Amino acid sequence: MALKFFNTMGRKLEEFVPLEQGHVRMYTCGPTVYNYPHIGNYRTFVFEDILRRYLKFKGYKVIQIMNLTDIDDKTINGSQKEGIPLAKFTERYTKAFFEDLDALRIERAEHYPKATEFIYEMVRLVKKLIEKGYAYKSEGSIYFDITKFKEYGKLSGLVIGELKAGARVKVDEYKKEEARDFALWKGWDATDGDVFWETEIGKGRPGWHIECSAMSMKLIGETFDIHTGGVDLIFPHHENEIAQSESATGKQFVRFWLHSEHLKIEGQKMAKSLGNFYTLRELTAMRYDPIAVRYLLLSAHYRAQLNFTFEGLQQAASSVGRLRSFAERAESIATTNTYSIKLQQLTDSMFRKFEEAMDTDLDTPVALAALFDYIRDANRILDAAKISEDNKQHMLDALHKIDSVLSVMKTSEEKISPEIQELIKKRDQARAKKDWALADRIRNEISKEGFVVQDTPAGTRVRRESR
Ligand code: AMP
Ligand code: ZN
Repeated sequence: MALKFFNTMGRKLEEFVPLEQGHVRMYTCGPTVYNYPHIGNYRTFVFEDILRRYLKFKGYKVIQIMNLTDIDDKTINGSQKEGIPLAKFTERYTKAFFEDLDALRIERAEHYPKATEFIYEMVRLVKKLIEKGYAYKSEGSIYFDITKFKEYGKLSGLVIGELKAGARVKVDEYKKEEARDFALWKGWDATDGDVFWETEIGKGRPGWHIECSAMSMKLIGETFDIHTGGVDLIFPHHENEIAQSESATGKQFVRFWLHSEHLKIEGQKMAKSLGNFYTLRELTAMRYDPIAVRYLLLSAHYRAQLNFTFEGLQQAASSVGRLRSFAERAESIATTNTYSIKLQQLTDSMFRKFEEAMDTDLDTPVALAALFDYIRDANRILDAAKISEDNKQHMLDALHKIDSVLSVMKTSEEKISPEIQELIKKRDQARAKKDWALADRIRNEISKEGFVVQDTPAGTRVRRESR
Protein backbone atom coordinates (compact mmCIF):
# COMPACT_ATOMS: atom_id res chain seq x y z
CA MET A 1 0.00 0.00 0.00
CA ALA A 2 1.12 3.53 -0.67
CA LEU A 3 2.10 5.79 2.18
CA LYS A 4 -0.06 8.90 2.28
CA PHE A 5 0.19 12.07 4.32
CA PHE A 6 -2.14 14.99 4.71
CA ASN A 7 -0.18 17.91 3.33
CA THR A 8 -1.04 21.22 5.01
CA MET A 9 0.07 22.83 1.77
CA GLY A 10 -3.05 22.34 -0.34
CA ARG A 11 -4.85 20.57 2.55
CA LYS A 12 -5.11 17.17 0.95
CA LEU A 13 -4.01 13.60 1.34
CA GLU A 14 -1.07 12.92 -0.96
CA GLU A 15 1.06 9.92 -1.71
CA PHE A 16 4.45 10.37 -0.12
CA VAL A 17 7.42 9.90 -2.42
CA PRO A 18 10.72 11.38 -1.27
CA LEU A 19 13.02 13.37 -3.52
CA GLU A 20 15.76 10.81 -3.31
CA GLN A 21 14.68 7.20 -3.49
CA GLY A 22 14.92 5.47 -0.12
CA HIS A 23 15.94 8.62 1.76
CA VAL A 24 13.81 11.09 3.67
CA ARG A 25 15.05 14.47 4.77
CA MET A 26 12.95 16.13 7.38
CA TYR A 27 13.06 19.18 9.56
CA THR A 28 11.17 19.57 12.80
CA CYS A 29 10.92 22.83 14.69
CA GLY A 30 12.40 22.03 18.05
CA PRO A 31 11.83 23.52 21.45
CA THR A 32 12.51 27.04 22.54
CA VAL A 33 14.78 26.24 25.45
CA TYR A 34 13.54 28.76 27.99
CA ASN A 35 11.45 26.54 30.22
CA TYR A 36 10.58 22.88 30.84
CA PRO A 37 8.46 21.78 27.88
CA HIS A 38 4.92 20.75 28.79
CA ILE A 39 3.17 17.63 27.60
CA GLY A 40 1.44 19.67 24.89
CA ASN A 41 4.84 20.30 23.35
CA TYR A 42 5.56 16.61 23.74
CA ARG A 43 2.41 15.73 21.85
CA THR A 44 4.05 17.30 18.82
CA PHE A 45 7.44 15.71 19.51
CA VAL A 46 5.83 12.27 20.01
CA PHE A 47 3.94 12.68 16.73
CA GLU A 48 7.23 13.51 15.00
CA ASP A 49 8.79 10.46 16.60
CA ILE A 50 5.98 8.22 15.32
CA LEU A 51 6.45 9.75 11.86
CA ARG A 52 10.20 9.18 11.96
CA ARG A 53 9.87 5.63 13.25
CA TYR A 54 7.19 4.76 10.74
CA LEU A 55 9.29 6.03 7.84
CA LYS A 56 12.03 3.70 9.09
CA PHE A 57 9.50 0.88 9.41
CA LYS A 58 8.76 1.46 5.70
CA GLY A 59 12.42 1.02 4.94
CA TYR A 60 13.49 4.64 4.49
CA LYS A 61 16.72 6.09 5.74
CA VAL A 62 15.77 9.20 7.66
CA ILE A 63 17.78 12.32 8.23
CA GLN A 64 15.96 14.42 10.76
CA ILE A 65 16.99 17.84 11.94
CA MET A 66 15.51 19.30 15.08
CA ASN A 67 16.69 22.76 15.91
CA LEU A 68 17.04 24.18 19.38
CA THR A 69 15.84 27.77 19.54
CA ASP A 70 18.39 29.12 21.98
CA ILE A 71 17.97 32.73 20.97
CA ASP A 72 14.71 34.59 20.56
CA ASP A 73 12.58 37.03 22.56
CA LYS A 74 11.66 34.42 25.18
CA THR A 75 15.14 33.05 25.91
CA ILE A 76 16.59 36.55 26.19
CA ASN A 77 13.83 37.60 28.60
CA GLY A 78 14.30 34.51 30.72
CA SER A 79 18.05 34.84 31.06
CA GLN A 80 17.76 38.52 31.91
CA LYS A 81 15.16 37.86 34.59
CA GLU A 82 17.52 35.39 36.24
CA GLY A 83 20.55 37.56 35.62
CA ILE A 84 22.57 34.76 34.03
CA PRO A 85 24.24 34.50 30.62
CA LEU A 86 21.96 33.34 27.80
CA ALA A 87 24.04 30.22 27.06
CA LYS A 88 23.97 29.09 30.69
CA PHE A 89 20.23 29.68 30.88
CA THR A 90 19.41 27.74 27.71
CA GLU A 91 21.79 24.90 28.60
CA ARG A 92 19.69 24.00 31.65
CA TYR A 93 16.54 23.57 29.58
CA THR A 94 18.33 21.83 26.73
CA LYS A 95 19.55 19.20 29.18
CA ALA A 96 16.05 18.80 30.64
CA PHE A 97 14.64 18.42 27.13
CA PHE A 98 16.95 15.53 26.30
CA GLU A 99 16.12 13.81 29.59
CA ASP A 100 12.43 14.04 28.74
CA LEU A 101 13.05 12.71 25.22
CA ASP A 102 14.70 9.63 26.70
CA ALA A 103 11.91 9.11 29.22
CA LEU A 104 9.33 9.31 26.42
CA ARG A 105 11.45 7.08 24.16
CA ILE A 106 11.60 9.72 21.49
CA GLU A 107 14.37 8.60 19.17
CA ARG A 108 17.21 11.00 18.70
CA ALA A 109 17.26 13.07 15.51
CA GLU A 110 20.47 13.08 13.46
CA HIS A 111 21.23 16.72 14.29
CA TYR A 112 20.18 19.24 16.92
CA PRO A 113 21.56 22.50 15.57
CA LYS A 114 21.51 25.44 17.93
CA ALA A 115 20.43 28.72 16.39
CA THR A 116 23.38 30.54 17.95
CA GLU A 117 25.77 28.32 15.98
CA PHE A 118 24.33 29.32 12.60
CA ILE A 119 24.38 33.11 12.81
CA TYR A 120 26.69 33.33 9.79
CA GLU A 121 24.24 31.35 7.61
CA MET A 122 21.38 33.56 8.77
CA VAL A 123 23.30 36.73 7.94
CA ARG A 124 24.09 35.34 4.49
CA LEU A 125 20.46 34.58 3.86
CA VAL A 126 19.33 38.03 4.99
CA LYS A 127 21.95 39.62 2.73
CA LYS A 128 20.65 37.63 -0.19
CA LEU A 129 17.10 38.75 0.51
CA ILE A 130 18.22 42.39 0.60
CA GLU A 131 20.12 41.97 -2.67
CA LYS A 132 17.10 40.41 -4.34
CA GLY A 133 14.85 43.22 -3.15
CA TYR A 134 12.73 41.23 -0.71
CA ALA A 135 14.04 42.86 2.43
CA TYR A 136 14.62 46.40 3.61
CA LYS A 137 16.17 48.23 6.53
CA SER A 138 14.19 50.22 9.00
CA GLU A 139 15.49 51.74 12.24
CA GLY A 140 18.47 49.41 12.40
CA SER A 141 16.43 46.25 11.82
CA ILE A 142 15.81 44.37 8.60
CA TYR A 143 12.33 43.36 7.53
CA PHE A 144 10.88 41.03 4.94
CA ASP A 145 8.45 42.78 2.61
CA ILE A 146 5.54 40.36 2.40
CA THR A 147 4.02 42.06 -0.65
CA LYS A 148 7.12 41.13 -2.69
CA PHE A 149 6.52 37.42 -2.25
CA LYS A 150 3.47 36.88 -4.38
CA GLU A 151 2.63 33.55 -2.81
CA TYR A 152 2.64 34.86 0.76
CA GLY A 153 -0.19 33.12 2.62
CA LYS A 154 -0.22 29.94 0.52
CA LEU A 155 0.32 27.65 3.52
CA SER A 156 -2.08 29.23 5.97
CA GLY A 157 -4.65 30.40 3.43
CA LEU A 158 -4.14 34.02 4.39
CA VAL A 159 -4.99 36.83 2.01
CA ILE A 160 -3.06 40.02 2.72
CA GLY A 161 -5.17 43.12 2.76
CA GLU A 162 -3.99 46.40 1.24
CA LEU A 163 -3.75 48.15 4.57
CA LYS A 164 -1.22 45.75 5.91
CA ALA A 165 1.39 46.49 3.30
CA GLY A 166 4.28 48.37 4.82
CA ALA A 167 3.23 47.78 8.43
CA ARG A 168 5.95 46.11 10.46
CA VAL A 169 6.21 43.76 13.39
CA LYS A 170 9.40 43.24 15.34
CA VAL A 171 8.23 40.59 17.82
CA ASP A 172 8.52 36.93 16.85
CA GLU A 173 4.95 35.89 17.56
CA TYR A 174 1.81 37.53 16.26
CA LYS A 175 -1.63 36.65 14.97
CA LYS A 176 -2.86 36.02 11.45
CA GLU A 177 -4.95 39.18 11.58
CA GLU A 178 -1.75 41.09 12.18
CA ALA A 179 0.11 39.87 9.09
CA ARG A 180 2.92 42.35 8.59
CA ASP A 181 6.42 42.68 7.31
CA PHE A 182 8.37 40.68 9.86
CA ALA A 183 11.85 41.09 11.29
CA LEU A 184 14.62 39.03 9.70
CA TRP A 185 17.27 40.76 11.75
CA LYS A 186 16.64 42.75 14.88
CA GLY A 187 18.92 45.70 15.42
CA TRP A 188 20.36 45.81 18.91
CA ASP A 189 18.54 47.80 21.53
CA ALA A 190 19.09 48.11 25.25
CA THR A 191 16.60 45.34 26.09
CA ASP A 192 18.91 42.82 24.37
CA GLY A 193 21.70 43.55 26.87
CA ASP A 194 24.85 41.66 25.93
CA VAL A 195 23.09 39.46 23.38
CA PHE A 196 24.20 40.64 19.94
CA TRP A 197 26.44 39.86 17.00
CA GLU A 198 28.49 42.43 15.08
CA THR A 199 27.88 41.46 11.45
CA GLU A 200 27.90 42.82 7.92
CA ILE A 201 24.20 43.59 8.24
CA GLY A 202 24.66 45.42 11.51
CA LYS A 203 24.80 44.82 15.23
CA GLY A 204 21.90 42.72 16.41
CA ARG A 205 20.40 39.27 16.44
CA PRO A 206 18.31 37.11 14.12
CA GLY A 207 14.52 36.97 14.15
CA TRP A 208 13.08 33.58 15.05
CA HIS A 209 11.76 32.70 11.57
CA ILE A 210 15.05 33.10 9.71
CA GLU A 211 16.69 30.62 12.09
CA CYS A 212 14.77 27.64 10.77
CA SER A 213 15.16 28.63 7.10
CA ALA A 214 18.91 29.02 7.44
CA MET A 215 19.51 25.86 9.44
CA SER A 216 17.31 23.58 7.38
CA MET A 217 18.66 24.74 4.01
CA LYS A 218 22.24 24.47 5.25
CA LEU A 219 21.80 20.97 6.67
CA ILE A 220 19.36 19.19 4.33
CA GLY A 221 19.27 21.31 1.21
CA GLU A 222 17.20 24.05 -0.38
CA THR A 223 14.33 21.68 -1.08
CA PHE A 224 13.57 18.84 1.29
CA ASP A 225 10.84 16.29 1.91
CA ILE A 226 9.03 16.97 5.17
CA HIS A 227 8.70 19.87 7.58
CA THR A 228 6.71 19.42 10.78
CA GLY A 229 5.50 21.27 13.84
CA GLY A 230 2.37 21.97 15.83
CA VAL A 231 -0.54 23.74 14.10
CA ASP A 232 0.26 26.97 15.95
CA LEU A 233 3.42 27.21 13.84
CA ILE A 234 1.57 27.34 10.51
CA PHE A 235 1.22 31.08 10.92
CA PRO A 236 3.35 33.08 11.09
CA HIS A 237 6.38 30.84 11.58
CA HIS A 238 6.08 28.42 8.67
CA GLU A 239 4.47 30.94 6.34
CA ASN A 240 7.48 33.18 6.96
CA GLU A 241 9.95 30.33 6.53
CA ILE A 242 8.47 29.66 3.09
CA ALA A 243 8.56 33.35 2.12
CA GLN A 244 12.23 33.74 3.14
CA SER A 245 13.47 30.48 1.69
CA GLU A 246 11.61 30.51 -1.62
CA SER A 247 12.41 34.17 -2.24
CA ALA A 248 16.09 33.49 -1.65
CA THR A 249 16.41 30.32 -3.73
CA GLY A 250 13.57 30.57 -6.24
CA LYS A 251 12.88 26.91 -5.50
CA GLN A 252 10.20 25.01 -3.62
CA PHE A 253 11.28 24.92 0.04
CA VAL A 254 9.35 21.95 1.44
CA ARG A 255 7.37 19.22 -0.30
CA PHE A 256 5.23 17.96 2.60
CA TRP A 257 4.07 20.04 5.56
CA LEU A 258 2.72 17.99 8.45
CA HIS A 259 1.21 19.66 11.50
CA SER A 260 -0.08 18.12 14.68
CA GLU A 261 -3.12 19.39 16.51
CA HIS A 262 -3.03 20.73 20.02
CA LEU A 263 -3.21 19.01 23.30
CA LYS A 264 -5.92 20.78 25.20
CA ILE A 265 -6.87 20.91 28.80
CA GLU A 266 -10.39 21.80 29.89
CA GLY A 267 -11.12 22.87 26.36
CA GLN A 268 -8.19 25.28 26.00
CA LYS A 269 -4.83 24.87 24.30
CA MET A 270 -2.23 23.72 26.82
CA ALA A 271 0.24 26.59 26.78
CA LYS A 272 2.95 28.06 28.92
CA SER A 273 1.45 31.49 28.51
CA LEU A 274 -1.90 30.32 29.90
CA GLY A 275 -0.32 28.49 32.83
CA ASN A 276 -2.64 25.49 32.25
CA PHE A 277 0.04 22.89 31.68
CA TYR A 278 1.72 19.83 33.14
CA THR A 279 5.36 19.09 32.54
CA LEU A 280 6.52 15.52 32.17
CA ARG A 281 8.45 15.76 35.41
CA GLU A 282 5.36 16.86 37.29
CA LEU A 283 3.56 13.76 36.08
CA THR A 284 6.42 11.40 36.86
CA ALA A 285 6.70 12.92 40.34
CA MET A 286 3.03 11.91 40.70
CA ARG A 287 4.18 8.37 39.80
CA TYR A 288 2.75 8.29 36.30
CA ASP A 289 4.75 6.18 33.89
CA PRO A 290 6.23 8.34 31.08
CA ILE A 291 5.31 5.55 28.68
CA ALA A 292 1.65 5.97 29.69
CA VAL A 293 2.07 9.64 28.75
CA ARG A 294 3.63 8.58 25.44
CA TYR A 295 0.76 6.19 24.82
CA LEU A 296 -1.85 8.80 25.66
CA LEU A 297 -0.27 11.28 23.25
CA LEU A 298 0.04 8.84 20.36
CA SER A 299 -3.32 7.15 20.84
CA ALA A 300 -5.26 10.00 19.21
CA HIS A 301 -4.82 10.81 15.54
CA TYR A 302 -2.22 13.55 15.29
CA ARG A 303 -4.61 15.84 13.40
CA ALA A 304 -7.37 15.52 15.98
CA GLN A 305 -7.42 17.61 19.11
CA LEU A 306 -6.87 15.71 22.31
CA ASN A 307 -8.11 16.77 25.69
CA PHE A 308 -5.86 15.90 28.59
CA THR A 309 -7.48 14.38 31.67
CA PHE A 310 -6.12 12.22 34.46
CA GLU A 311 -8.74 9.57 33.69
CA GLY A 312 -7.39 9.47 30.14
CA LEU A 313 -3.88 9.07 31.47
CA GLN A 314 -4.97 6.26 33.75
CA GLN A 315 -6.66 4.50 30.84
CA ALA A 316 -3.49 4.92 28.83
CA ALA A 317 -1.53 3.29 31.66
CA SER A 318 -3.88 0.33 31.70
CA SER A 319 -3.66 -0.02 27.90
CA VAL A 320 0.13 -0.08 28.17
CA GLY A 321 -0.27 -2.72 30.90
CA ARG A 322 -2.41 -4.87 28.59
CA LEU A 323 0.06 -4.57 25.73
CA ARG A 324 2.96 -5.45 27.99
CA SER A 325 1.24 -8.45 29.56
CA PHE A 326 0.51 -9.80 26.14
CA ALA A 327 4.07 -9.20 24.95
CA GLU A 328 5.35 -10.97 28.07
CA ARG A 329 2.98 -13.87 27.55
CA ALA A 330 4.04 -14.17 23.92
CA GLU A 331 7.68 -14.20 24.91
CA SER A 332 7.43 -16.77 27.64
CA ILE A 333 4.90 -19.17 26.15
CA ALA A 334 6.01 -22.82 25.86
CA THR A 335 5.80 -24.29 22.37
CA THR A 336 5.00 -27.74 20.96
CA ASN A 337 4.88 -29.30 17.50
CA THR A 338 1.31 -28.17 16.93
CA TYR A 339 1.21 -25.50 14.27
CA SER A 340 -1.76 -23.13 14.54
CA ILE A 341 -2.83 -21.87 11.15
CA LYS A 342 -5.46 -19.78 12.89
CA LEU A 343 -2.92 -17.88 14.94
CA GLN A 344 -0.68 -17.43 11.92
CA GLN A 345 -3.53 -15.91 9.91
CA LEU A 346 -4.64 -13.76 12.80
CA THR A 347 -1.13 -12.35 13.18
CA ASP A 348 -0.85 -11.63 9.45
CA SER A 349 -4.20 -9.95 9.30
CA MET A 350 -3.45 -7.74 12.32
CA PHE A 351 -0.10 -6.74 10.86
CA ARG A 352 -1.73 -5.83 7.56
CA LYS A 353 -4.35 -3.72 9.29
CA PHE A 354 -1.71 -1.96 11.34
CA GLU A 355 0.27 -1.07 8.24
CA GLU A 356 -2.78 0.00 6.27
CA ALA A 357 -3.86 2.32 9.06
CA MET A 358 -0.40 3.83 9.48
CA ASP A 359 -0.04 4.21 5.72
CA THR A 360 -3.18 6.33 5.78
CA ASP A 361 -1.73 9.47 7.33
CA LEU A 362 -0.48 7.68 10.47
CA ASP A 363 -3.90 6.62 11.72
CA THR A 364 -2.77 5.44 15.15
CA PRO A 365 -6.27 4.93 16.67
CA VAL A 366 -7.16 2.44 13.92
CA ALA A 367 -3.74 0.80 14.16
CA LEU A 368 -4.12 0.38 17.93
CA ALA A 369 -7.65 -0.98 17.57
CA ALA A 370 -6.29 -3.70 15.27
CA LEU A 371 -3.63 -4.53 17.84
CA PHE A 372 -6.09 -4.78 20.74
CA ASP A 373 -8.51 -6.93 18.72
CA TYR A 374 -5.58 -9.18 18.00
CA ILE A 375 -4.59 -9.45 21.64
CA ARG A 376 -8.13 -10.47 22.59
CA ASP A 377 -8.38 -13.12 19.86
CA ALA A 378 -4.82 -14.38 20.19
CA ASN A 379 -5.22 -14.76 23.95
CA ARG A 380 -8.24 -16.98 23.29
CA ILE A 381 -6.23 -19.14 20.94
CA LEU A 382 -3.36 -19.38 23.41
CA ASP A 383 -5.77 -20.32 26.21
CA ALA A 384 -7.31 -23.09 24.18
CA ALA A 385 -4.53 -24.61 22.14
CA LYS A 386 -0.82 -25.17 21.91
CA ILE A 387 1.29 -23.36 19.35
CA SER A 388 4.52 -24.11 17.53
CA GLU A 389 7.86 -22.34 17.69
CA ASP A 390 7.09 -20.99 14.22
CA ASN A 391 3.84 -19.45 15.41
CA LYS A 392 5.58 -17.94 18.38
CA GLN A 393 8.39 -16.39 16.34
CA HIS A 394 5.90 -15.05 13.83
CA MET A 395 3.91 -13.43 16.62
CA LEU A 396 7.02 -12.03 18.29
CA ASP A 397 8.37 -10.66 15.00
CA ALA A 398 5.10 -8.84 14.35
CA LEU A 399 4.98 -7.38 17.84
CA HIS A 400 8.60 -6.37 17.66
CA LYS A 401 8.15 -4.61 14.32
CA ILE A 402 5.05 -2.81 15.56
CA ASP A 403 6.80 -1.75 18.72
CA SER A 404 9.66 -0.33 16.67
CA VAL A 405 7.07 2.35 15.84
CA LEU A 406 4.96 2.60 19.00
CA SER A 407 7.70 1.83 21.51
CA VAL A 408 5.39 1.16 24.41
CA MET A 409 5.55 -2.62 24.88
CA LYS A 410 9.13 -3.24 25.87
CA THR A 411 9.86 -2.86 29.52
CA SER A 412 13.59 -3.47 29.11
CA GLU A 413 14.41 0.10 28.11
CA GLU A 414 13.24 1.31 31.49
CA LYS A 415 15.88 3.38 33.18
CA ILE A 416 16.80 1.79 36.48
CA SER A 417 19.16 3.93 38.54
CA PRO A 418 22.48 2.42 39.77
CA GLU A 419 21.14 2.67 43.37
CA ILE A 420 18.14 0.50 42.52
CA GLN A 421 20.33 -1.90 40.59
CA GLU A 422 22.53 -2.25 43.67
CA LEU A 423 19.46 -3.04 45.80
CA ILE A 424 18.35 -5.65 43.27
CA LYS A 425 21.76 -7.29 43.48
CA LYS A 426 21.69 -7.31 47.29
CA ARG A 427 18.20 -8.75 47.27
CA ASP A 428 19.22 -11.56 44.95
CA GLN A 429 22.17 -12.32 47.23
CA ALA A 430 19.86 -12.36 50.27
CA ARG A 431 17.47 -14.72 48.50
CA ALA A 432 20.32 -16.99 47.49
CA LYS A 433 21.23 -17.23 51.18
CA LYS A 434 17.58 -17.76 52.04
CA ASP A 435 17.63 -14.62 54.19
CA TRP A 436 13.96 -13.89 53.54
CA ALA A 437 13.71 -11.15 56.15
CA LEU A 438 16.46 -9.13 54.48
CA ALA A 439 15.00 -9.84 51.02
CA ASP A 440 11.65 -8.49 52.20
CA ARG A 441 13.20 -5.38 53.68
CA ILE A 442 14.98 -4.65 50.41
CA ARG A 443 11.76 -5.29 48.49
CA ASN A 444 10.08 -2.61 50.62
CA GLU A 445 12.91 -0.21 49.99
CA ILE A 446 12.65 -0.71 46.23
CA SER A 447 8.84 -0.37 46.30
CA LYS A 448 9.13 2.91 48.15
CA GLU A 449 11.01 4.25 45.13
CA GLY A 450 7.96 3.53 43.00
CA PHE A 451 8.81 0.12 41.53
CA VAL A 452 6.87 -3.14 41.43
CA VAL A 453 9.12 -6.02 42.48
CA GLN A 454 8.68 -9.43 40.90
CA ASP A 455 10.44 -12.71 41.69
CA THR A 456 11.29 -14.61 38.55
CA PRO A 457 13.43 -17.69 37.92
CA ALA A 458 16.06 -15.28 36.61
CA GLY A 459 16.06 -13.28 39.86
CA THR A 460 14.46 -10.03 40.99
CA ARG A 461 12.80 -7.98 38.27
CA VAL A 462 11.47 -4.50 38.76
CA ARG A 463 9.33 -2.22 36.71
CA ARG A 464 8.10 1.24 37.41
CA GLU A 465 4.81 1.23 39.16
CA SER A 466 2.22 3.03 37.13
CA ARG A 467 -1.01 4.32 38.53
P1 AMP B 1 7.89 25.86 21.52
O1 AMP B 1 8.91 25.31 22.45
O2 AMP B 1 6.89 26.75 22.18
O3 AMP B 1 8.51 26.49 20.29
O4 AMP B 1 7.02 24.63 20.98
C1 AMP B 1 7.57 23.42 20.56
C2 AMP B 1 6.55 22.63 19.77
O5 AMP B 1 5.41 22.31 20.56
C3 AMP B 1 6.00 23.36 18.54
O6 AMP B 1 5.97 22.47 17.44
C4 AMP B 1 4.59 23.76 18.96
O7 AMP B 1 3.74 23.86 17.86
C5 AMP B 1 4.21 22.60 19.84
N1 AMP B 1 3.12 22.89 20.81
C6 AMP B 1 3.02 23.93 21.66
N2 AMP B 1 1.90 23.83 22.42
C7 AMP B 1 1.27 22.69 22.03
C8 AMP B 1 0.06 22.00 22.43
N3 AMP B 1 -0.73 22.46 23.41
N4 AMP B 1 -0.24 20.84 21.80
C9 AMP B 1 0.55 20.34 20.82
N5 AMP B 1 1.69 20.92 20.41
C10 AMP B 1 2.05 22.08 21.00
ZN1 ZN C 1 10.98 26.55 13.20
